[in-house]
Amino acid sequence: MWEKIKLSLARFMQGRYGADSLGRFLVWAALILYVLGMFIPSYVGGLFSFLGAALLLYVLFRMFSRNTARRTAENAWFWNKTAKLRTAFSQARVRFKNRKEYKYFRCPKCHAWLKLKRGSGEGTLTCGKCKHAFKAKA
Ligand SMILES: [Zn+2]
Repeated sequence: MWEKIKLSLARFMQGRYGADSLGRFLVWAALILYVLGMFIPSYVGGLFSFLGAALLLYVLFRMFSRNTARRTAENAWFWNKTAKLRTAFSQARVRFKNRKEYKYFRCPKCHAWLKLKRGSGEGTLTCGKCKHAFKAKA
């Protein structure tokens, strides 16, 4: 009986996409939305729960999808986006850690991060990325 269910499930999933990191992320997002919806009163909570349920349906749709090329591309897109976000987070953590030692500036031209040792007074900073020079005080 159990073997039969497992076998038919395997047959059902054949050629279908299945789970990936985007799917796992969306399941968590859906659960959080759904649980938040239970604690938030009135129609706002209902909306949260509805969105959570809709997201979960979307995850199931992706898992059972036969268009694996499309799903793989979505996952790659998601991975790309979060990679940038992860880099930004880790850089922000470094800046926070060194905040007493360095003052951080953004290049006015290309928005790259530059740093100047605190207490070094006014100086000219040259962006390592675009070579733009500007005055900064630390
Ligand atoms: Zn620059």
